[in-house]
Amino acid sequence: MFKSLYFKIVLILLIFIAAVMCAVAAILMNGVTTYYVDAFADQMEECFGDDTMLRQELTAAADRKEYSADMKSILTSYGGILGIDRYRNYYILNLDAEMLAGSDAELGASLEVTPNLLSAIGGENKNRIISGTEYADWAVRIDNGDNHCIIYVKDTLEEMRELNQVVFSIILQAMVIGILIAILLSFFLAKAITSPIQNLTYGTQLVASGRFDHAIEVNSSDELGILTENFNHMKERLKGTLDEVYSEREKLETILACMRDAVMTFSTDGRLLLRNNSAAELFGDDLKQGRMTLEQCFEKLDIPLQKDGNSIRLTSADAAVERTRDGFVFRDRIFGDRVYDVSFGIIRYAEKGRMVPGCILISHDVTGRYELDESRREFVANVSHELRTPLTSIKGAAETILSDNEMDAETREYFLDSFILAECDRMTRIVSDLLTLSRLDNNRTQWNIEQFDMHMLLQRLADVMQKESKEHNHILTLQAADVTPITGDKQRLEQVFVNILSNAIKYTPDGGKIDISVTEGKNRVITTITDNGVGIPEKDIAHLFERFYRVEKSRTSDAGGTGLGLAIAKEIVEAHGGRISVQSKTGEGTSVVVELPYECRLKSTHKAE
Ligand code: ADP
Repeated sequence: MFKSLYFKIVLILLIFIAAVMCAVAAILMNGVTTYYVDAFADQMEECFGDDTMLRQELTAAADRKEYSADMKSILTSYGGILGIDRYRNYYILNLDAEMLAGSDAELGASLEVTPNLLSAIGGENKNRIISGTEYADWAVRIDNGDNHCIIYVKDTLEEMRELNQVVFSIILQAMVIGILIAILLSFFLAKAITSPIQNLTYGTQLVASGRFDHAIEVNSSDELGILTENFNHMKERLKGTLDEVYSEREKLETILACMRDAVMTFSTDGRLLLRNNSAAELFGDDLKQGRMTLEQCFEKLDIPLQKDGNSIRLTSADAAVERTRDGFVFRDRIFGDRVYDVSFGIIRYAEKGRMVPGCILISHDVTGRYELDESRREFVANVSHELRTPLTSIKGAAETILSDNEMDAETREYFLDSFILAECDRMTRIVSDLLTLSRLDNNRTQWNIEQFDMHMLLQRLADVMQKESKEHNHILTLQAADVTPITGDKQRLEQVFVNILSNAIKYTPDGGKIDISVTEGKNRVITTITDNGVGIPEKDIAHLFERFYRVEKSRTSDAGGTGLGLAIAKEIVEAHGGRISVQSKTGEGTSVVVELPYECRLKSTHKAE
């Protein structure tokens, strides 16, 4: 209450009124005093001046015997001119300042000796009105012959003091009325000033609490009105700017939330500032609860960076580090079962009203690319290995023939047939399989789509393979019901079943049993080729369709396979929209299941030759 603007305005006005009134009172009262005293001095000068009538009469009376009585009667007759009343009296004194006669005998008996009286006794007649004294007096020495006396007029100034009291009480009354008016006026004045300010204060409180919907009413066009208008305008601008900031922040948060890359920012002292959902998924609860520090992040992702006080330095010249304009990219960091490219950079962010440095880590999942690179490397190594083996045999056989001029025809034929021609055939098979795969990979396979009956196709194949299976004393059977004709590339599907049947013949010890069956599934035809051969260990089943994958190479090398047959079969079947799977048990046998839809999804790309 005492600190309010209203109180201050009222107080200032009151002090102002009181000060003005005091000044007026002082001036008036001083004026009254000066006027009264000056009027007294002028009056005395006029009456007792050197050649005045009164002076002459008094001087003449001084020569007489009863001069004091004569003088008294003269002075009494001049009483009106001298202003004699109960406050002002005259006295006739001897040179010892003793009263001889006077207008008030009682007061005259106790007269004090004043400077003017002393001066007159000394014969100087120099009267002075001394300010600050409680009286005003005038003394004149009258000499005639042997008679000497002092005419002394003394005013108690009581009249002046009474007048001053009246003035003072008038001023006091005026002051009380003035103060009442001032209180009333200051109330309206303070209200006029403080109510817009109170409105503004309320408005600023709302803005501070984030509410921008309340516009402050502008009631005047004065400075406060302009201030209110400016405040409303400023509030609108602020709202607009904040809306923009919020929408930008929301956009940024949405982008961050939707990003598959893990994004984290840290302060230079290693504190986590921000992270997105992908980062939380990557690092789990530690990061979600903000417990993870920058150093822990470096450690988990195996990043060769170290925090040194507030700076960060590279700890090793890692070959997989790339320098960027404001940071590094660390390639192929393995974390869990995934591989990441991790970018590290320096950022600046606002903290406690100033921009400070921080850092950002972005982990980009490159597992797909990494695996592809790995499988490419493996593929090239496999191809090199598979081609080098027959080449070594061919080179060895050729060198043997060349080094022995006397080699008989039968031995030469053996080397030519068993090594050079057989290995050339093997290489041709590999190259042809690789070409088939390459065309499938690059979608450059020319498809010849037609409708055909699966039963008929398998019957023909069983007939063709019968010879080879008999060589191994296998019993090859076909159990097929009539099934719905399907569409597809008949020739390539034949290749699929030849690959599967050849495997069954190859990987079943002589005298085995191979069975082909065809059944109808939901909108598809299901072909199963079962053998009772060596079977496949469980750990290998998932890898059977990988290129060049062979179970225990030593075990199957005799069979002369390339490790590409099932990979080609898978590509062809899946290109048709079908599915191929293997079930097997070591020592018991293997079943390969091929499911093909009635309508294949391939479009014919066969060009008539
Ligand atoms: P390959 O040309 O070596 O036969 P595939 O891709 O056709 O290559 O087969 C891959 C591997 O799967 C073979 O090397 C073999 O070890 C195994 N395999 C395939 N079919 C059978 C089967 N019916 N019985 C046992 N093992 C098989």
